[in-house]
Amino acid sequence: MPINVKGKVTVITGAASGIGKHMAEKFAEEGSHVVIADLDLNAATSVAKEISDKYGIETMAVKMNVTDENEVNGGIEAVAQKFGKIDVLISNAGIQIISPIVDFEFDAWKKVIDIHLNGTFLTVRAAMRKMIEQGKGGHILVTGSVHSVEASKNKAAYVAAKHAQLGFVRSVAKEGAEYNISANLIGPGFVKTPLVDRQIPEQAKTLGISEEEVVKKIMLGETVDGEFTTVEDVANVAVFLAGMDTNVLTGQSFLLTHGWHMQ
Ligand code: NAD
Repeated sequence: MPINVKGKVTVITGAASGIGKHMAEKFAEEGSHVVIADLDLNAATSVAKEISDKYGIETMAVKMNVTDENEVNGGIEAVAQKFGKIDVLISNAGIQIISPIVDFEFDAWKKVIDIHLNGTFLTVRAAMRKMIEQGKGGHILVTGSVHSVEASKNKAAYVAAKHAQLGFVRSVAKEGAEYNISANLIGPGFVKTPLVDRQIPEQAKTLGISEEEVVKKIMLGETVDGEFTTVEDVANVAVFLAGMDTNVLTGQSFLLTHGWHMQ
């Protein structure tokens, strides 16, 4: 069973930073064309250039707010025009807003749900339509979280949205099967990215504890070894799943949590 993404076209949302950026690097290293789709076009353009220069792979940057239906459909169309196909979509864009439920602003709640859940729906729908049109199948990956299966305090919107992504992925696996489209969720524990770096002081303030305690007790307290998940861990699993030529693993969630969640 060869694992290979060489020559594939992989679209990654939120790929101008953090986990998405590293997945893009890893896919390029393995010979896949990568499309950096992000809200921040400047950052996406420089990441696309950096990766193209480093790995000698044709890349593309696309301005895509995943909550904007026209931008998502237009962006996916532009990718299909340029490369003639889309093989892999990774719905990865995300944000975090921390607050106790009783203080959660409705606008903040809606923003988190909009980006993670509606954004995943819009990007997956657009990619699936292309994959079906092409008739060659494809892989859909969604960056969920340990919070797709566990809850933490002060993250209700994020936990709700990440759980919803898991249900959505399972639905994609069911409906995608007849077109040879597989769907999986990759759920990391805490990974040191700008998203998490921003959370450490915020959590310390909300909980009235030190930043060191936030890392040790809140972020890594439930792991078996006190270790962060790394961007490399996530990227390796993504390449593995997208590189498989069978749908044997479709509909599964892969939780990269150092034992925080065992299934
Ligand atoms: P990050 O902040 O480093 O990167 C997120 C990227 O998404 C940024 O480039 C940002 O511009 C982009 N983005 C934000 N809103 C967008 C929108 N509406 N449309 C398009 N792009 C948008 O974050 P990260 O840590 O790399 O997170 C990536 C994904 O991984 C998210 O879905 C997050 O929930 C998930 N995740 C992260 C961790 C972690 O510990 N870092 C753990 C589990 C899951």
